[in-house]
Amino acid sequence: MRGKPRVWSEAEMAGLWKSAAEASGGRSANHLYVHVPFCKSICAFCNYDRLKPSSADGLREWRDRVLASMRTLGPAVRDLSFHALYFGGGTPSVLPSAILREVFEGLDAQFRWHPFASRSIELDPATVNASKIRAMVDHGFDHFSFGVQTRSAHVNVQHNRGPQGPSTVDRCLDLLPGPLLSTVAVDVLIGLAGVTPDDTLADAEALMLHPRRPRVDLFHLTPTRSYVQSHFGGSRDRASDALARYDDPFRDRLARLAHRCGYALHNADSHHFHTLHPQGRSRYTSVQNLRDLGGQLGRDLQSLAAKYRAGKTLRIRGPRHGYTQLANTAGRQHNLLGLGPSARSQIFGIASAQTIPAAGQSGRTAYRGATIDPSDELRTFIIFDIRDHAFVDEKRVQKIFNTTFAESFADALSVWLEEGFVQPASNGWRFQRRRPEVLSTLMLWLVPDQILEQVIEDKSQQTARKHGESQPNARSRAPRP
Ligand code: SF4
Repeated sequence: MRGKPRVWSEAEMAGLWKSAAEASGGRSANHLYVHVPFCKSICAFCNYDRLKPSSADGLREWRDRVLASMRTLGPAVRDLSFHALYFGGGTPSVLPSAILREVFEGLDAQFRWHPFASRSIELDPATVNASKIRAMVDHGFDHFSFGVQTRSAHVNVQHNRGPQGPSTVDRCLDLLPGPLLSTVAVDVLIGLAGVTPDDTLADAEALMLHPRRPRVDLFHLTPTRSYVQSHFGGSRDRASDALARYDDPFRDRLARLAHRCGYALHNADSHHFHTLHPQGRSRYTSVQNLRDLGGQLGRDLQSLAAKYRAGKTLRIRGPRHGYTQLANTAGRQHNLLGLGPSARSQIFGIASAQTIPAAGQSGRTAYRGATIDPSDELRTFIIFDIRDHAFVDEKRVQKIFNTTFAESFADALSVWLEEGFVQPASNGWRFQRRRPEVLSTLMLWLVPDQILEQVIEDKSQQTARKHGESQPNARSRAPRP
């Protein structure tokens, strides 16, 4: 809901970035996202857009486009310090180690990195090998995440993921650096066809008991229409029933299991995801990892390892900056530079864009998006604060936007107060939790009338075009919810 979409050339995009860098005055959080839109195969349940099965030609074309974008955009942001890198997709581990190194070297050469910048990357365990991990570690990656979904090879085959079983997952965990210097997160899917809650608990237990002690994120499946068709005979009820089995007593059992394994369960009540966090310290750490990474960091890891084993708190490089796509998580003005087809790019108060054309299509790189202004940013910021924290901190809003939520959205606030959706708190506003569909209707109060009218008009024109009807002349005023 932000202005008319338009297309910028990459040179024009560099100009927008240059003016954003000059205007930021060093106050912004600057994160960089590299999108690798390839996977070895496309999983039946995946609802990401524009992914492609990997091919040698496709990977090389992607590399050339991304390196060219870095050469164009890098000089425009020379004065910005980048605080976090996220290498996602897709699954970047489909790239050969030589291409990984070329792209990492481009990132190091073209952008200036904050000394405490974090680097995260997504992996597919079936495509990981020692030389790829070596390339990642050599270039400072310290957060690794990969999808397990299920440890059943049979179910993975049924979902077009190949025969990924326990040995593939364990091999990947064994290859990753020790917990002293990096974090590892693994994803498990809840509600997959062919998997029972008992299977999921067994998978979670095996992962928690692995010496690497990964964080385990359990995501509830979002069944797409085609997934329901292919795996639940077209029945939404059957897909919903598969998910409902993961309400109580599953959550109680998961919490007890976590406790037995030395983990803690977070977000137990969520219908979106739960997280299992390792508690205390793992005794597992590879001497080889320590030696290799110690040389890279220029630290005496013998003494660090001794402290680590004694259970003391360690600071390896200082406070890390975590990657986020959201200004409300960054806690300040947030610039997100996206590289690669389908990548996202958002420049505080200027533009929000994605690269085109998509992966697998040739053509000069351009960016399609819409202009935005700080009031759009503020609206987004508030929406995410309400959704994720059920709280708006007025001091933080004032610091970033030089205004307050109450000043900027007086109408919405008065309606929500009347409805009991929000209450004043000592330093901000506390919100009631509401189901997603109810929440999205309530959020419409934040959207200006003229934008709602525009959206309604665009939608009615789209519908008319679809049905071959003439365009309506009259515009009806947007009804408030
Ligand atoms: S590996 Fe991940 S990103 Fe790729 S298709 Fe499967 S679920 Fe989607």
